[in-house]
Amino acid sequence: ANRYLSGLSKTKVSFTQKLKNLARGFKGVDSDFLEELMIVLLEADLGIDTAEKLIKQVEKRSDKEKATTMKEVNDILFEEMQTLYNSFEDAPFIENADGPTVILMVGVNGSGKTTTTAKLANMFKEDGKSVMVTAADTFRAGAVDQLKRWADRIGVDCVEGRAQADPASVIVDGARFAKEHNNDIMIADTAGRLQNKVNLMNELKKIHKVIDKEIPGQPAAVWLVIDATTGQNGISQAKEFMGATNVTGVILTKLDGSAKGGIVLAIRNMLGLPVKYVGLGEGVDDLRPFDIDTFLYGIMG
Ligand code: GDP
Repeated sequence: ANRYLSGLSKTKVSFTQKLKNLARGFKGVDSDFLEELMIVLLEADLGIDTAEKLIKQVEKRSDKEKATTMKEVNDILFEEMQTLYNSFEDAPFIENADGPTVILMVGVNGSGKTTTTAKLANMFKEDGKSVMVTAADTFRAGAVDQLKRWADRIGVDCVEGRAQADPASVIVDGARFAKEHNNDIMIADTAGRLQNKVNLMNELKKIHKVIDKEIPGQPAAVWLVIDATTGQNGISQAKEFMGATNVTGVILTKLDGSAKGGIVLAIRNMLGLPVKYVGLGEGVDDLRPFDIDTFLYGIMG
């Protein structure tokens, strides 16, 4: 958990410092206080809608429970963030009993998609699974080589696509390889182009179709990689991807470099998606399963 907490330190320092400043002038939960609390939430990148929702709850409960100290208000805020996150039901990640489980990685260039593919491969491998990766991001120059190098380092197989090759055909190769080699898990990196929505949608549709044809019922998961430092932009990117394919979860990268960890709650509230993992550095070990309680203690505790 320590790595987790230090990765969240930027958000924690910024968030707790601001709450402390608020505590100093605290005279009760009045409109001035709520306005200032709203600013603190916005600066942590919760976004207007999510921040407003929480402020309303804090106001309501502070009144009802007669909260007179900042400590009580902090506790209410903590609980309301927890409640907000837990108020959604998530489809479980179910591994395929009859063949490889396929995880599809989507996200814009630069979000950390390729690095995260490697981190996941490493994590599943350390979990004792037989893992392979498919490098189907034939669009970004260097992405295929980058994943190949990671795969070599981690010690997993990599099926790679030639530059500008059709990603779906690379994924077919990958799926066949995974079946032949009895791999438990195939993680497929895909191209991150968002410029052309119709194109993205068609490509992802085709990818889904070919995977399902090779390995019925797959992919088991489509994980969208979002760079935490891009703030609310990440939310609009996510909406584009959700319009193009059935995204089942988010992996939030570069949380170590961001004071905007509140984006977790915006992702949840605005998109309903669970945050599956967080990226806390550039190393292959710098990925952690996300857990809302650890996260909230990390930024507020
Ligand atoms: P892609 O274009 O989405 O495949 O992005 P890459 O995987 O190439 O990552 C872009 C840059 O972000 C690289 O320099 C990565 O090392 C870096 N990166 C990825 N994830 C993280 C993270 O969790 N923390 C930090 N600090 N850097 C990251």
